[in-house]
Amino acid sequence: MVSEKRLNIGVLNVQGAVSEHAEFVRSLGDNVVLVKHPEDLDQIDGLIIPGGESTTIGKLMDKYQLSETVREKANKGFPLFGTCAGLILLADEIEGNEKAHLQLMNITVNRNSFGRQRESFETLLAVNGVAEDFPAVFIRAPHIVEFAADVNVLSEYEGRVVAAQQGNLLVTAFHPELTEDMRIHRHFRQIVDNYKKAQQ
Ligand code: GLN
Repeated sequence: MVSEKRLNIGVLNVQGAVSEHAEFVRSLGDNVVLVKHPEDLDQIDGLIIPGGESTTIGKLMDKYQLSETVREKANKGFPLFGTCAGLILLADEIEGNEKAHLQLMNITVNRNSFGRQRESFETLLAVNGVAEDFPAVFIRAPHIVEFAADVNVLSEYEGRVVAAQQGNLLVTAFHPELTEDMRIHRHFRQIVDNYKKAQQ
């Protein structure tokens, strides 16, 4: 599908699965901006925070002075999509005395919640309003252990919340960018499109 009006969607480019997300954005007909510095954020209508290692990504976001600007923008409705480590970065709290990062979404997360034996696996999941059969790839994935009343749970796996949305903030514990299924990215695109229209 090539959209009528291209959106400018950023992919945080400090560590992790950057190129796969960028490819999906392009495939949906939009422009990709690889975001490393605060001024890159001026050019985009929404930002994807990829999977990788959340502690590293958080440190690099601070180093490049991105954290504060991303937080300010997101508090005013700017859309963010966090996958895996990206989910951890958005959370208000991380279980186990670990300092949280952006603290934007009213969720508490457990890092690495699927154990060593199951470090990575793939399964089909229903994602509310998006897909009945989404191929979810989990890699040392977190899950959401607590969430505020206005957090919309989109998907659960074995009783654990693994995808959710709170207004402009979308998160998945799994990696849609490592499949060929663009339905969740298309859902994010819709959030970005609505945000952009509301700005005009
Ligand atoms: N477990 C990693 C972390 O805590 C996330 C893994 C991933 O993004 N694939 O950052």
